[in-house]
Amino acid sequence: MVAQDKTNLLRQLPSVDEILRAPRTAELLEEYPRPLVVEAVREGLDRWRRAILNNEISGEIRREEILPRLAADIGRLVHHRARRNLRRVINATGVVLHTNLGRAVLSPSAREAVQMVAAGYSNLELNLDSGKRGSRYAPLEGLLARLTGAEAAIVVNNNAAAVLLALSTLAREREVIVSRGQLVEIGGSFRIPEVMAQSGAKLVEVGATNKTYPDDFRRVINQETALLLHVHASNYRIIGFTREITIAELVALGKEYNLPVMSDLGSGFLVDLSGCGLPPEPTVQEVVAAGPDVVTFSGDKLLGGPQAGIIVGRRQYIEKMKKNPLTRAIRIDKMTVAALEATLRAYLEPEKAMVEIPTLYMLTTPLEKLEEEARALAEELQKMAGSLAQIAVERTVSRVGGGAMPTADLPSLAVTVWPCQMNSEELAARLRSSEPAVMGRVQEDRLVLDVRTVLPGERGMLARVVAAALDPERKGAE
Ligand SMILES: *Cc1c(COP(=O)(O)O)cnc(C)c1O
Repeated sequence: MVAQDKTNLLRQLPSVDEILRAPRTAELLEEYPRPLVVEAVREGLDRWRRAILNNEISGEIRREEILPRLAADIGRLVHHRARRNLRRVINATGVVLHTNLGRAVLSPSAREAVQMVAAGYSNLELNLDSGKRGSRYAPLEGLLARLTGAEAAIVVNNNAAAVLLALSTLAREREVIVSRGQLVEIGGSFRIPEVMAQSGAKLVEVGATNKTYPDDFRRVINQETALLLHVHASNYRIIGFTREITIAELVALGKEYNLPVMSDLGSGFLVDLSGCGLPPEPTVQEVVAAGPDVVTFSGDKLLGGPQAGIIVGRRQYIEKMKKNPLTRAIRIDKMTVAALEATLRAYLEPEKAMVEIPTLYMLTTPLEKLEEEARALAEELQKMAGSLAQIAVERTVSRVGGGAMPTADLPSLAVTVWPCQMNSEELAARLRSSEPAVMGRVQEDRLVLDVRTVLPGERGMLARVVAAALDPERKGAE
């Protein structure tokens, strides 16, 4: 009898053609590409067939009822498929430089510069004074020299590429000496030993994980030595009995043996943030002043610009790098040049940079302002969510992220959401498929929304999206 039921039900399902002719589907065809609609019709039908076979749908259901329900499912599917894969996300994680969420948010002037070069032609490699061919690095080099105090600069695709280029140019088939305590891995894919191998340079490790002295370097320096490398311990700290080699010590050794010294700074920054509760760390200017020949750092970490690898240093080395064929393979595009130039220009007035560059602004937002934001969000959310959730304001801790200042705790404020109709994991999943998506932190039975990384103007949208996700009746696209 059950089998009979199923066959009967399956027979009630309309055909692909029938569905495509239905008015609801015709509407979809006007809005979305036909192949996506046809695919969704097939998948929608498939789902219904499977549901019938698995006894998820049984009993009496009339053909007239099936079509509209099926059409609604198909509508959701098409909408889901037609969405862009790269979508907007509201970052309520409190991690300011979240690599998975695109790291630095660009400043208004950087965005405007990107829009300008994207929408038209530009003098990317044209010198407008002479009418002759120019360098795409020209708009950046002068600014970088002025801001960091270095003689020359070049910018490549990211800091991993910057390290690769520098090592390949200065130390190919020769030895580079690094302290064992600095053989860092960043984000699972950048490891100093591996980048070194890729560049053709030979890694010579010295010292112990926790202690390295200048004499450890002296013992291994020989005819094959090409470079002394210092790597910033970006995303980890060695505590206890430690003694790490400093850039100043390496510079002294470099002078003693007539060897170039390079510093991979990772998250370089141009303004001192120690007054804002962040750990004291030298700025790029301070590192350059200590005298290494080459310094590399990221464009989209604490600098707050686009993804880029910035190399500053002595002209003779930078010029060699510009001539390395590898440079062509890892060169930056026009949108990066535009965004980076605008970002760097903001630093000509550091007070302005602190307000204009979202990364700096978010890192230094005063607690009172965060509290104000949290209270406003909580109130808005409670109004919209009603009895669907319990809302509160709590203290929390934000992070710098992007592998920078791993031990820095930034006291912050969060809105916490206890959903009443689902568990917090389910709410988080619904928020990931919302439009825009929302990323918070699930802590046991609640969702924590750190307001530090919610951008100005996003609050209303965030409240709406969370309120909608809390309502189990509002089906998201699956
Ligand atoms: C982040 C980092 C890198 C890699 O920089 P990307 O811009 O992510 O390629 C390299 N070295 C150090 C020390 C870093 O912190």
